[in-house]
Formats: sequence, C-alpha cells, structure tokens
Amino acid sequence: MALFSKKDKYIRINPNRSIKEAAQAKPEVPDELFAKCPACQHTIYKKDLGKTKVCPLCSYNFRISAFERLELTIDPASFKELFSGIETKNPINFPNYMEKLATVREKTGLDEAVLTGTATICDHKIALGIMDSNFIMASMGTVVGEKITRLFEYATEEKLPVVLFTASGGARMQEGIMSLMQMAKISAAVQRHSKAGLFYLTVLTDPTTGGVTASFAMEGDIILAEPQTLIGFAGRRVIESTVRENLPDDFQKAEFLLEHGFVDAIVERAELRDKIGQLLGLHGGQI
Ligand SMILES: [Zn+2]
Repeated sequence: MALFSKKDKYIRINPNRSIKEAAQAKPEVPDELFAKCPACQHTIYKKDLGKTKVCPLCSYNFRISAFERLELTIDPASFKELFSGIETKNPINFPNYMEKLATVREKTGLDEAVLTGTATICDHKIALGIMDSNFIMASMGTVVGEKITRLFEYATEEKLPVVLFTASGGARMQEGIMSLMQMAKISAAVQRHSKAGLFYLTVLTDPTTGGVTASFAMEGDIILAEPQTLIGFAGRRVIESTVRENLPDDFQKAEFLLEHGFVDAIVERAELRDKIGQLLGLHGGQI
C-alpha cells in the first residue's frame, strides 16, 4: 500500500481554496517559459520561437517590441533617435490618462507608441519609424502624429527614404478628436515627401487597424506585410452586423489583402531586412 501512503506527492490541495475554485483554476504555467500562439492556439516553448519570434507550427509572427524590431532589421548600432521627449498632453481631460502613460512608459522604455530616427539598412540611410503595440496598443495620439509628421519633414529635407513599421489599434480614444486629426496631418507630410520624389515603404505588422490603416499605413509606395497580420479599418463584428453577411475566415488578414491588391508582398520576418535593402537599392536609397 506504499502508493496510498505517498498520496501527498501526487495530489496537492491548497487548504484555503474551495473545490469549486480549484476546479475553475487554470493550470499555472510560468509566463516566461511558454507562449500561446494567437493564430494556431498551440502552446509554444518560448525558446522555440527563436530570435525572430515566429511560431514553428503555423509561421505566425508574434508581436515584438520596437527595440526587438530594431535589432532584427537595421545595421548594428546604426540607429539615432530623433524627436523624442515631446510631451503628451491630456486634451480632453480623460480620467487617469497621465497615470496610464507613466505606467506604460516605465514598462516599455518608450516615451510614446512610435520610435523615430535615422538608421541604415544594408548600408542604405533611411528615416525610420517603428510603432510598438505594447504602448497602449500603439494607438495614434497627438504625439505619435507629431513624431511621424516630423520624421517625414526631416526625410524630405534630407532627401531620405522613409521606412515605417506600422502596428496600431487605431486612433487614441483618450485624446478624442485630436487623435483623428493626425490622419490628415501625417498624410499631408507624406504627400510633400512623395512630391519631392522620395521613396516611402510601409511594413504592416500585427495588428494594423483603424485610423492608421485609413491613412499613412496604406500610403506607402510599396506596402509589405508580415504573414497573417491583421489589417483592417473597422472590426470584423461591426462589418458583419452592418453588411449582414458572414465574412470569410481570412478576412482582414495580410494574405486576403494581398489577393485583393491592397498589399504588394508578404515577407517572412527573417527575410525582411534583405528585402527592404533590395527595395531601397531599386528605389533610390542613399548610401
Ligand atoms: Zn502558431
């Protein structure tokens, strides 16, 4: 009967937890070891995602931070940050907005949802912007709008191509209509850059939605996307209830948009750097 005498080894019960609570509890898996793939729903050992953070089972590109993106994409140590330190205001006195910003700044190490500056990719000098979905879902507020506008104005003056990695939940509701105005403001700067004959490349990363899709994300001369990226304006349920039709499963996915001509190419994350370098070489990137 040795097996029964050792039952504590097999069954561990927290005496402070009721049976119902214990039954409802989810298995405790350390966050730092495993990640659930949002696309195929499998639990993946994080080390298996590799440096590029791509699901080994379905090729979904996990969301990465702006700093991880820098490391994967640009020539080492070539990034020089520009336009940092612009103060975010609370134009409509949204409750707890400033506290939320302080917490997110601390967590991400970013001052706003987009990182802007200059860098080189395959030795081509560029003006670079990277949006980071860890920062209030990379929503577009006044400072995001200002930083991207200044990036385009700087690139126009310095005759540089712009490479912009987009990721966004859309306009930032905490700044009300001020955030919607950024769409027109950035688009005007994009047009001045374009009229100067300069190249603008966008890379749509998961998720690119709302006012960002409806403005500068879709204004690139060439539009690339990572595999399985969610790209759209309104949410799926909103569209379904408006048109009263069921939408295809891959609706608003990069692959669907490629098929319908909204995206020029889908590029694996590991190949992005070389592909961007090649496009800059073809379209007048400075060396
Ligand atoms: Zn997967």
